[in-house]
Amino acid sequence: MSSEKLDSLYTPVQFLKGVGSVRGEHLNRIGIKRAYDLLFNFPRDYLDLTDHCEVTQLQPDKIQTVAGIIESWESRSTRRGKMQALFVDCGAGFVKALWFNMPFVVRDFAYHRRVMLTGKAKFDHPYWIMMHPQITYLADNEDGSEIESDPFLPIYPLTEGVKQYHLRKIMREILPEYASKLEEVFPQDFLAAHELLPIAEAVKAIHFPASKREIVLAKRRFVYQELFILQLGLAIRRLQHRTKLKATPLPSNHSIDVRIRQRFPFQLTEAQENAIKEILADMSQATPMNRLLQGDVGSGKTVVAIYAMLVAVANGSQAVFMAPTEILARQHLRTINRMLENSRVNVVPLLGGQRPTERAAILQDISSGAANIIVGTQAIVYGEVPFQKLGLVVIDEQHKFGVMQRAALKTNEKFDPHYLVMTATPIPRSVAMTVFGDLDVSVMRGLPPGRQKVVTYISNPEDRAKWWDFVARKIRVNRWQAYVVVPLVEESENFDARSLNEVYEQLSNGVFAGFKIGILHGRMSSEEKDRIMFDFRTGEIEILIATTVIEVGVDVPNANLMTIESAERFGLSQLHQLRGRIGRGKKPGYCTVFTSNQNDDAQKRLAAFASTSDGFKLAEEDLKIRGAGDLFGTQQHGIPPFKIADLSRDMEIVAEARKDAIEMVTSDPGLANPEHAKLRSQMLKRYGAVLNLGDVG
Ligand code: ADP
Ligand code: MG
Repeated sequence: MSSEKLDSLYTPVQFLKGVGSVRGEHLNRIGIKRAYDLLFNFPRDYLDLTDHCEVTQLQPDKIQTVAGIIESWESRSTRRGKMQALFVDCGAGFVKALWFNMPFVVRDFAYHRRVMLTGKAKFDHPYWIMMHPQITYLADNEDGSEIESDPFLPIYPLTEGVKQYHLRKIMREILPEYASKLEEVFPQDFLAAHELLPIAEAVKAIHFPASKREIVLAKRRFVYQELFILQLGLAIRRLQHRTKLKATPLPSNHSIDVRIRQRFPFQLTEAQENAIKEILADMSQATPMNRLLQGDVGSGKTVVAIYAMLVAVANGSQAVFMAPTEILARQHLRTINRMLENSRVNVVPLLGGQRPTERAAILQDISSGAANIIVGTQAIVYGEVPFQKLGLVVIDEQHKFGVMQRAALKTNEKFDPHYLVMTATPIPRSVAMTVFGDLDVSVMRGLPPGRQKVVTYISNPEDRAKWWDFVARKIRVNRWQAYVVVPLVEESENFDARSLNEVYEQLSNGVFAGFKIGILHGRMSSEEKDRIMFDFRTGEIEILIATTVIEVGVDVPNANLMTIESAERFGLSQLHQLRGRIGRGKKPGYCTVFTSNQNDDAQKRLAAFASTSDGFKLAEEDLKIRGAGDLFGTQQHGIPPFKIADLSRDMEIVAEARKDAIEMVTSDPGLANPEHAKLRSQMLKRYGAVLNLGDVG
């Protein structure tokens, strides 16, 4: 692009025709400083003038468009200011349009001019009244003066001091000149091959589309571009990872396989077998595995991880298993120790609350290589653990573990370890492809055989007594155990939600007086938590009242009952995780959620929750209800937010952009082809640092 062109795109807005210094300042305030910014200040919606109805079909309080002929108008001062009324004859009825303090609308009024009015109508005998409608002069007007004939009018996100019509006018003014100055980043034939509008056309169309199809095409171009640029970065990172990082190959063989399987008390499911096959293929390579294992709550990921760790150990390497919470780390320790009883594999814990001498001894074992498998919380990552020969890192229950965080987890060794990241939060495909876009993904659908259903009820507070009665009977007669989950530890003035203390007081002095009740929350010390979990597991505690510390991974098969209080305070994936604690034994689980909240999203969430226990379906629902920005906000994963793309809406384009980007990087790994230079520089500018791409090419 010539610098002259560039310069003009950078013209400060106040120097553009129709803007001026006052409006210029208002625009500046919302970040619109240059001509360029105006072009990319996309409409948030459009006024569809093609969608008009007959006056007889008008419905109250809905935005609609009617056409008619100007019959008369009137102008007077009222308490609300200067009022203008326009009387429009729409054939089978009349519309009276009203504007207050908008003198400019009257400018083009003329008898018998055809107009369209768009707005909300209210019937006020014998007129339909429209307040502040959008007025559009139609092409067949009789005086032939200037015609506004766009079928769709842009609706911009607005700022104080700049009205829609101001902005439209400005955009009409500058678009023809400036749109053509934008640089095209895609090669010509790429555009054609991927059904993308050229940049100038796309910008014009996104502001003033000639048809609905043009809106779709224009949006598609920008969404695609945004996603493609990220996917390019991810594809290059993947490639760099493959070519630059070295790992110790950790192959398996028949005798290793047989030895490992002997340790498992059950047959692996087909899903587990497949995941293991994919993991082993990666681990046998001299480049580090970088794999995400996605499997619904209870699908049996732990044993897959143990398999992989034992392969590492069989190869003389160390493996580390990291959990997000101590409760979970301890549970993994128990599971592993149970499976490896009487084996020579040395498993060591690395947890908070260990005495200094104990910790020193463990670290010594790790550095001498005496420790084979290290199980702990993520504190390990941040501490300086002197691994002797780290071959495999397993990170459990991590959906908040994006590109950035993984980049930070580096060892000082010559060889990088293989990585296996596990998550029970089923991630919608579009999100996985973005946030974990540089990972290979294994998916385990379905649960191990014999898994029980969980019945879910959404209950009203009045059903409480009956529910508690059921719980009490199941505990007394069937010796079941129960969770009661609450969002808060203590009452709070700021939240209208049930707290642990309150629920404990009520239950222990009420329906469950005489039952063995324990409480568990994040503020307790590790020893206390440990003791409570031990008592719950051994049946010493019958009812465990807990916060979401039990959310991930906790596995107590005899606990079949769950009550969730103030359920509106939990997200859908959290609810799903919580419910995953029950139905783990031989009997179906029963989950009841109580809510007093009528909030729309909460209702939708709970309805979705009760309707299915398929985590993948719930994840897609969640994405629809909450939008991508929230739950799976790319930011929390270290990727800057999207400007235009929306992972819940644009799922298909994500997949397409990803495929195309991988193709481009495969054929041109450093994006050295001059035709790709602009894509390359745009990608580096936006993601070079974030993805730690260093020098590409
Ligand atoms: P998650 O994927 O949620 O981490 P876990 O690994 O905790 O699931 O497994 C859940 C339960 O299923 C555990 O009690 C585990 O022993 C059991 N399990 C795992 N694999 C199998 C299998 N192939 N057959 C039967 N039970 C299994
Ligand atoms: Mg697990």
